[in-house]
Amino acid sequence: MEIFDRSVLALPFFSEHHRALAERFESWTQCNWPTLDTLGTADVKGAVRSITRALGEGGWLGFRADGTAPAPVAPPLDLRSICLLREGLCFVDDLLDFAFSIQGLAAAPLIMFANEEQQNRYLPELCSGRKLGSLALSEADAGSNLAATQLSAVRDAANYVLNGEKTWIANGNVADFHCVLARTGEGPGAFGLSLCLVPADTPGVSVAADLNVMAPRPLASLKFENCVVPRDNLIGRAGSGFQYALTILNRYRTTVGAAALGFCRRALQAALERTKSRKVFGALLFDQQMTKQKLADMAVFLDAASLLVVRSAWELDCGGERSDHSSMAKLYASEGAQKLVDDALQLFGAAGTLKNSLLERLYRQVRLLRIYEGTSEIQKLIIADSLVAGGCAVRRSS
Ligand SMILES: Cc1cc2nc3c(=O)[nH]c(=O)nc-3n(C[C@H](O)[C@H](O)[C@H](O)COP(=O)(O)OP(=O)(O)OC[C@H]3O[C@@H](n4cnc5c(N)ncnc54)[C@H](O)[C@@H]3O)c2cc1C
Repeated sequence: MEIFDRSVLALPFFSEHHRALAERFESWTQCNWPTLDTLGTADVKGAVRSITRALGEGGWLGFRADGTAPAPVAPPLDLRSICLLREGLCFVDDLLDFAFSIQGLAAAPLIMFANEEQQNRYLPELCSGRKLGSLALSEADAGSNLAATQLSAVRDAANYVLNGEKTWIANGNVADFHCVLARTGEGPGAFGLSLCLVPADTPGVSVAADLNVMAPRPLASLKFENCVVPRDNLIGRAGSGFQYALTILNRYRTTVGAAALGFCRRALQAALERTKSRKVFGALLFDQQMTKQKLADMAVFLDAASLLVVRSAWELDCGGERSDHSSMAKLYASEGAQKLVDDALQLFGAAGTLKNSLLERLYRQVRLLRIYEGTSEIQKLIIADSLVAGGCAVRRSS
């Protein structure tokens, strides 16, 4: 089965390495499809643990976000590879992509900003899928505006003491460690935040609530009560946490666009199969002009979104920092994906609305992309600001 569009893969943005990765992923998926398909139907926490392990054993977690840090297990992955994998995983199943992307997000601060000791302590376990991580930025009153973060990390001679709450944390209730954005107070607002590693079994850390969102995944609110971690657990420089978080989000937004492509390719494939077999008014649904209009719109959108995604990934791999291009990729792909999946569902008629049918699941799964890692509105603010800042605006919001 072909998951990727060969005409996109043939573009000079990709190298032979990426084309080989895509082939390897397709054959791995083919062999593992029955297992992967059933993993997602089990209890969601257990499923994500099993999936992460399977991805680690398959060698798919050898992530590398910036081209400088070692990837201990598998060959390094640049952003284009991460995009390809997210596209492929979303094509197969939302929960596979969830497990892959959250493990990558948790690893990103370690790869990009941590010291060697911290990398050696956490990355091998993350890459093998034996341990799970989370990136805990959001709070009830600090979602789009991370500069409003309140969770405090107060320093004493040897430790930081954390108090506060985080919410909407992917893997929050299954992770073995959290990378937490905390107020350390070096400066006001955005200038007084740091990233801190907190093992999940540290006394004082607890899951305050499991959160059930429209597409099942382990998501939780976390509570930190007099939680003591060594000062060595601080990642990079104190006071730079906000800048680190935005750098990571900026890169990963491009991959959210890639995730949208995967959902869309699956929806388009299903719509084609359906319309080529379904008869209406004595002819194939495919042969109705309004059907062709919908399918044509889907194909044009997919190509346009693919180009925005690969442009941004290629630029970031080449060392560029165009946050507006990353935002464009996320915004365009995730907003358009909603329409594409909706049109595909429409082509299925009532059958598309059946609970847990493919289209009904895609309809719910694709919705989340417009909110996490910066809402569509925040992407528009970044893009608009870049028009007067030479294309490189960095906003003080997530
Ligand atoms: C499935 C899922 C997974 C997530 N995973 C994680 C995770 O792993 N780690 C983590 O830290 N967080 C995570 N989040 C949280 C996510 O990053 C936030 O939900 C997101 O940043 C938006 O914050 P909010 O929900 O508080 O919305 P708010 O910030 O309250 O925004 C509400 C609405 O107001 C709009 N808005 C806000 N500011 C402006 C403005 N200036 N101008 C115009 N409109 C504006 C927003 O676009 C939105 O439509 C996750 C969320 C979801 C849904």
